[in-house]
Amino acid sequence: MFAGHEKQTEIFRRAVKSGRLMHAYIFSGIKGIGKRLFAVNTAKALLCREGSFFSPCGCPSCVQIDMGTHPDLHLYGEKETSPDGKVLNEDKIINIENVRKIVESAGMTPLEGQWKVYIIDGAHQLADTAQGGPAANALLKTLEEPGENTVFFLITDKYEAILPTIRSRAVNVKFSPLTIDQIRQALSGIVPEGSFIDRAALMSGGSVSRTLDILNEKFTDVTPYLKDGDFVKFAAAVQKLKTQEEISMAVSSVYPEALEAFKKTGRYSYCLLGYYLLDILRRFNYNANVDLIKADFSSKVIEVFSEAV
Ligand SMILES: [Zn+2]
Repeated sequence: MFAGHEKQTEIFRRAVKSGRLMHAYIFSGIKGIGKRLFAVNTAKALLCREGSFFSPCGCPSCVQIDMGTHPDLHLYGEKETSPDGKVLNEDKIINIENVRKIVESAGMTPLEGQWKVYIIDGAHQLADTAQGGPAANALLKTLEEPGENTVFFLITDKYEAILPTIRSRAVNVKFSPLTIDQIRQALSGIVPEGSFIDRAALMSGGSVSRTLDILNEKFTDVTPYLKDGDFVKFAAAVQKLKTQEEISMAVSSVYPEALEAFKKTGRYSYCLLGYYLLDILRRFNYNANVDLIKADFSSKVIEVFSEAV
């Protein structure tokens, strides 16, 4: 059904089978590796009437989940907007009102199935609702002692930004970046086979969604300028990057180049650059200043790569 994450699959296969789950899990790891899909599939397995696990099933419960209408699966996530800026899923975004609703409903018994499942995608945003005081406190209490057979899956690509009080109440399940093979597998039938998938997968740092963005050219590849030694164009291309996502991708794409250059030349500064790039990616977990990061990224890469010229 999806690629990779065998260890996590095994853990949840046993948990679902025995019916013994913790109250709350945090699924952490980079964007686009299937954390949310994994949570939805676990919910499916818990609510399935045929006892299927991570395999296609046509029972009424699984069909309802596919259609997004199962009354015992509550999925919250990022704001979805229409082209004219209207919020389409007001009742499903992470804000104080909805946190209140979660708290209220989590104490009740499931409507149809044996379980009630809450998936909160982008759970680090719960920190913003903490100003809501009582609502946030009630949520903490709910995470600690929800109703019977209620389970929370909190999904994030910014584990450090999750409130410590929430972290201490949930089990962290880490999801690793995917291998090139796994990305190819996940995209088979979605994009045409070809060697460019491998290149895009490598540049993506192990993320299916980033690989797709690269294939759809939503992302500027800054590495050709490095290879040409055209540092002015490199700096200009970095300057044009706007979102955190774009910058992360650029940083991830330079990383293998730095390692490759280290292998070729044996120069330790390339190796140190590799660490530096990982550090930049980590800084994004703390909502660091984008312009500052771009400047650091650009100057450090140019410094190291221009030494060889
Ligand atoms: Zn089913």
